[in-house]
Amino acid sequence: MAEERYTIVVHGGVVTTRGRWTHSQLALIRAVVTQARDQLAAGAAASDVVVQAVVGLEDSGLLNAGKGSSRNAAGVVEMDASLMEGDTGNAGAVAAMRRVKNPIKAARIVMEETPHVLLVGSTGEETLIGLGAEAVGDPASYFKPYRDLEFEPTGPGTVGAVALDRRGRLAAGTSTGGTSGKLPGRVGDSPIIGAGTFADERYALSATGSGEHFILRSVARDIAMRSEYRGSSLQEAADYVIGRLIGDIDQAQGAVIAVSRSGEIVLAAANVLGVCYGYASESKAVTVGMELR
Ligand code: ASP
Repeated sequence: MAEERYTIVVHGGVVTTRGRWTHSQLALIRAVVTQARDQLAAGAAASDVVVQAVVGLEDSGLLNAGKGSSRNAAGVVEMDASLMEGDTGNAGAVAAMRRVKNPIKAARIVMEETPHVLLVGSTGEETLIGLGAEAVGDPASYFKPYRDLEFEPTGPGTVGAVALDRRGRLAAGTSTGGTSGKLPGRVGDSPIIGAGTFADERYALSATGSGEHFILRSVARDIAMRSEYRGSSLQEAADYVIGRLIGDIDQAQGAVIAVSRSGEIVLAAANVLGVCYGYASESKAVTVGMELR
């Protein structure tokens, strides 16, 4: 099997205001990307690397996913996540999880241990805990939305990762606490395969932003299919869907990270300063940033 150029791209949500992101988020992204690059260099599978990267972000408490998840209008954390493997075409997702420690691992259990793609709510969560998903003992004290004066009180911090491994396999994962103050039971784009997350044999994508718009426009899959069917570059397809459809027409905010089978790294954002990102590949050193314009 041909050796591909391994690549990892990670995001920590859209950035809407200059200077409000603390150094700790970028340091975290750097650490996660560095570890993921080492794992890919050693021959790890893309889906394993994506899950580990997202777990690192979920456990940090610094972003709106896992430990640092935002609360809904009732003051309760309800988390969404999904994982897709490009080579197998399999995916797993969870929505409105209140107790699982790592929603991305729960999504993997859905993919690997059940005949389903999406499990939701308290009954879905009970099923997953029964299948081995770790639950936190006291959700009200474990989950603490990240807040400080430098951090925006709402919105950003959804996390995601896309990877291309040495064997040419692609994977994508996304995890979020969803929009702060959302109605109880609201599910965003992050656990919707084709909207917030997508991977096939050519592309892997993870999105962040106004989830309703990303669902309505099937953003992640639309970018991949536009690139495939039209023969345009992945960056052109992402710029069109994010910039024109989400940005200009919908007047919504959002961003996407993506990688292609050939190792093309794509970052695109609309109506925001950028996306908190990090990437590295066989030939590219670890790079982190948050502004795209
Ligand atoms: N897309 C996420 C959601 O709608 C939120 C975000 O990315 O900031 O749940």
